[in-house]
Order: sequence, then structure tokens, then C-alpha cells
Amino acid sequence: MQEKTVYNFNAGPATLPKAVMLKAQEEFVNYRGCGYGIVEESHRAAPFEEIIQAAEANIRKLMGISADYDVLFLQGGASLQFAMVPMNLMVPGKKIAFCDTGEWAHKAMKEAKILGAGINLVYDGAKEKYSCIGDVSSWQFDQNDAYAHICSNNTIYGTAYNQYPDTGALPLIADMSSDIMSKVVDVNRFALIFAGAQKNMGPSGVTLVIMRKGLAERCPETVPTMLRFSTHIKAQSLYNTPSTFSIYMVRLVTDWMLEQGGVPAIQKLNETKAAKLYAAIDESGFFRGTCAKADRSKMNVCFRIGEGNEELEKKFVSESKAAGMIGLKGHRAVGGLRASIYNAMPMAGIDALVAFMKAFAAKNG
Ligand SMILES: *Cc1c(COP(=O)(O)O)cnc(C)c1O
Repeated sequence: MQEKTVYNFNAGPATLPKAVMLKAQEEFVNYRGCGYGIVEESHRAAPFEEIIQAAEANIRKLMGISADYDVLFLQGGASLQFAMVPMNLMVPGKKIAFCDTGEWAHKAMKEAKILGAGINLVYDGAKEKYSCIGDVSSWQFDQNDAYAHICSNNTIYGTAYNQYPDTGALPLIADMSSDIMSKVVDVNRFALIFAGAQKNMGPSGVTLVIMRKGLAERCPETVPTMLRFSTHIKAQSLYNTPSTFSIYMVRLVTDWMLEQGGVPAIQKLNETKAAKLYAAIDESGFFRGTCAKADRSKMNVCFRIGEGNEELEKKFVSESKAAGMIGLKGHRAVGGLRASIYNAMPMAGIDALVAFMKAFAAKNG
């Protein structure tokens, strides 16, 4: 048994609650007295049915999802949703509105283009190097488009919407992979929300889709069975073998979230965690946040040393690792440093990082 505490600031797969990891360990070989592990169980058997239903019920409760929405557990990651969403929801002759706030938004846009959809670029963050989102109330949406796509939290650049754009009657689709269930969100504003589990909900291998009922009927006849939302709605996510272990873990993580007091309590904690870390950056005179303050993500904190001192940043990454903090290197697309502080990152992890940053700045400033 490893006693050493390592704080994991990786962007995803990411840290999970210690209590959940211990529970999964305890149940792994003998799931709740049944004499074998849940990974060995049929996805059609009663023990797994209870798990997938409980996971869905937890998510509905945590996010306040009404009966007007279906909740699906799919595979292929958020990246498959970049294609699956337009496959199912694009409309011949209509464009798709995209708000390009970074890597994951334009990857989604690329898939829509491959499928032949016209793009209506409502917001182009490239000009500002994706360092901000700005005033979404000034964005113009064309009500004749098929739908609008946003990425709610930009994992790589470290920005997040603090307010969602008003798209009128245009169905709003959101990639919430890196901030799902980190703050209270009114699901009713969205036609479809998707999120890979591996940032805030569990391990990799399962993707959550929350979708307004009726929307799936838009799907053209030519889309293969596995890629149709309607297939998975009808089969309640059991059309084929799902990632049973990942869904089991999502159930445990969402149990844990409810025990913490649900999303409002977690949001409050996330706000405190992020405020502490950004204050340490802003007050240092050594580190520098890379994003507009108003648009800073509370999940992925991106920063640099000075104007981008790569040598010192490298030193920061290796010394922090030696001090028991991993995953602080920025994404290869942007460089610098990044601390991903999802729901499961305890306050003690933030405190350890802040203390390390202070000592590092004092030594190297
Ligand atoms: C990680 C991430 C993705 C990619 O997820 P996969 O499950 O690896 O396909 C997409 N969007 C956002 C916002 C992400 O953070």
C-alpha cells in the first residue's frame, strides 16, 4: 500500500476522489458479496443494471435534469461527439454556428466540415490567441442555422464561459468535458450536452450525453446504427456492450458528489480553490496568468513564468514532481504551466501547490 501522497494536476485522465478509489479497490474482486468482480459481470445482468440506473439517477439529481431529456452513456470520447452531433443534427442547406474558443471547439468544427456542413463562425478566438472569450451578449446568431456549438471550458487555454450565449430558438450544444458538474448549470438552456468522463466524472471510456427529447429524430437515414443517438436512447445505452467499469466508476464518483452536498457545495469549493491559486499567481510578481481575468477557468489554471521563461518552467515541472505534484506542464499546443483542479482535487492539493510556488518564486525570482 502506497503511503506517499501525490497530487495529480493532469488535465485528463485526472485525479479521482481518494474515497472512490478505495471503494473501487475494496469491491474490485468481490462486488458487494456476489463473489466476482463487476468487470466480469454481464451488462445485461441485475447488478450492472442497478449500477447504470443509479449512475443516471445520480446525474439527473446532481444536474437537475428534467424528464424532457435523455441521459446516455456512450463510447468514443468527446471526440466522437464532434462527428456524431453533426451527423445526427445537421440539416441540409443549413449552416452550423460555431464559437471557436480553442482547440476543442475547432476540432469539433473540423468534423462538421468533413461532413459537408457550412460553418457560421460566430466567434473567432484565434485573433486573441484564445486568451479570452469576451462579451457573449454581443454575439450574433442566425436563427436559420441548424444549431450552435460551444465548448464551455477550454481545457487547453484555460478560459471558460461565465455566461452562456443566448441563441434564441437555435438549439445550443455544449462540450462540457472539462467542467461538467463543477458548477450549477441550467440544463434547460441546452439542446445537448456532452462530456467525456475522464476529467470530472470518472475514468476514460465513457462519454455522457444529455439530450433534449425529440432532437434525435432529426437524424438522416444514412447514419449507421451505432452512430445514431436514437439507437442508444431506445436501448437505454445498452445497445451493445458499454464500458461497464467506467460506468461503475461514474456511479461511485456521483455518489461521492452527492455526499459532498451536490453541485452547489462543490461549486463553492471550486471557487475557493481557483481563487487561492489565481491569487498566488497574481500576487507573485513572478508567475503570470495567461488568460483574461474575467474569463478564467476554475478547472484549468494556465500560467507562465514571466513572459514565458521555458527554462524555469521546465525546472518548475521537474521540481514540483519531485515534491509530489504531477501534471503541471502546459498542453503542448501552448506550453507554459497548467494546474487542472477538477472537483476531486482536494484543498490540501491547492495549498501544497501554492506553498511550492511561493518557495520556487523566492528561490528563482
Ligand atoms: C479532453 C477534452 C476533449 C477530448 O475528449 P476525448 O474523450 O479524449 O475525446 C474534448 N473536449 C474537451 C473540452 C476536453 O477537455
